[in-house]
Amino acid sequence: MPNIKKLLVANRGEIALRIMRTAREMGISTVAVYSEADRLSPHVKFADEAVCLGPPPSNQSYLLGDKIIQVCKELNVDAIHPGYGFLSENAGFAKKVTDAGIIFVGPSPESIEVMGSKLAAKQAVAKYNIPLVPGTEEAISDISAAKKKAAEIGYPILIKASAGGGGKGMRIVESEVEFEEQMQRAVSEAQSAFGDGAVFIEKFITSPRHIEIQVLGDQHGNTVYLFERECSIQRRHQKVIEEAPSAVVSPEMRKAMGEAAVGVAKACNYYGAGTVEFIVDDQLNFYFLEMNTRLQVEHPVTEMITGKDLVREQIRIAEGNPLPFAQEDLKIYGHAVEIRVYAEDPKNNFLPDIGKLITYRRPQGPGIRVDDGFEEGMDIPIYYDPMIAKLITHGENRQDAIDRMIRAINDYRITGIETTLDFCRFALQHEAFTSGMFDTKFVERYFTPEKLEPVFSDEEKQILAAMAVVFYEKEENRINPKTPKNTLPTTNWKNRLI
Ligand code: ADP
Repeated sequence: MPNIKKLLVANRGEIALRIMRTAREMGISTVAVYSEADRLSPHVKFADEAVCLGPPPSNQSYLLGDKIIQVCKELNVDAIHPGYGFLSENAGFAKKVTDAGIIFVGPSPESIEVMGSKLAAKQAVAKYNIPLVPGTEEAISDISAAKKKAAEIGYPILIKASAGGGGKGMRIVESEVEFEEQMQRAVSEAQSAFGDGAVFIEKFITSPRHIEIQVLGDQHGNTVYLFERECSIQRRHQKVIEEAPSAVVSPEMRKAMGEAAVGVAKACNYYGAGTVEFIVDDQLNFYFLEMNTRLQVEHPVTEMITGKDLVREQIRIAEGNPLPFAQEDLKIYGHAVEIRVYAEDPKNNFLPDIGKLITYRRPQGPGIRVDDGFEEGMDIPIYYDPMIAKLITHGENRQDAIDRMIRAINDYRITGIETTLDFCRFALQHEAFTSGMFDTKFVERYFTPEKLEPVFSDEEKQILAAMAVVFYEKEENRINPKTPKNTLPTTNWKNRLI
């Protein structure tokens, strides 16, 4: 069985650092790659060796698969972990890595290929009795046949790009009159964004929840599920708050979803860590959406509730070891919540904000985990995803994890850049979230920028007013002293309130 001694992490930021930490705990030496923009990044400093790939744009650095393989050969690296994004779901890269005699910490190129196409994935799982959103199982080629099918399903429907990802390449069609126009747009968008114009139809689920199942499979045919993560709080179809377990999933539903997810994994002979995404309607029916063949951004919530280190398991599986636990060994301990701290301005349509992290202090304490890849004083580069950090809390139950998260958000000090911290506090305190009765429409339903303006109670207003008076008098006295300095009045603002 190959024993990995040196691992190259073909990624940057928080995920590169997170993977290297586990590698170090396992006694594996680490190699970082970086672009010129990331020269001073923590992942570069942490690694045992580091190699610059080129200029900042990803296509001149982190996406240079051949160069990365070359680095592996020169430094005697025996495995590559791709993280998420960049080359992680590139079947061609995974194949080149294995052909070069290097272990790819991930599934086989064939599994990546099948699941990389939403249509191929639907076709692959068809014989496993996995619930699918009603729709077409093949690319639309004939408009009138597609219209007929859409009428059968019932409007609104969704036109989706088979090669789509990251929430891109989807169009809602409200009625038949819009069908052709939206269809043409969807095809041309899919063609320009993904180089593949294949689109298909799905019923548009009006109040959907996004619930996904973590799976782990070894190379000996054993597959288990590590329960669900709910990721329904999204902006622009992209996740911003995740939790495990979900507030609405019962033990029976969990088992049914878990077994369906294992079926999806088996349908593509999956090994490694993977995530099977489902969409859940307001009646709690669940339908398979797609499988992500890599580690997910939100994997820490699963680690917190299961006590397992998913990166360690990925590495052990890649080495050829059998899974060290069976389904019945896995249990849920407490509740975990993750928020993504993005350099974005929620008051301005969540537009990315760039600049320097003038102040950067992490929250601390029991049950708090911060996965980040920045230090105070660093710039957030414009070339990559604007995520600064992931803040994760764990508690005995859902409310404890939420309360702890609010405390952690309040203790997080970030200045110089607008972030999603205040938005996340707003969401976590909202009645829809605390009650568990929310869906992916949360942001459009409940959020407006004014919601982030500070709201003060009457007592707080009185205190602020009194402090303003004291401050004003002190300033007056300093600028224009009426009394000698040593006889300045002492402040007595508390008594003034009464
Ligand atoms: P991507 O690969 O771009 O992430 P997904 O198929 O995973 O695409 O869908 C992303 C998000 O879009 C889901 O989390 C959900 O919010 C929404 N979505 C996807 N399919 C549907 C559908 N049939 N009805 C309603 N919303 C959907």
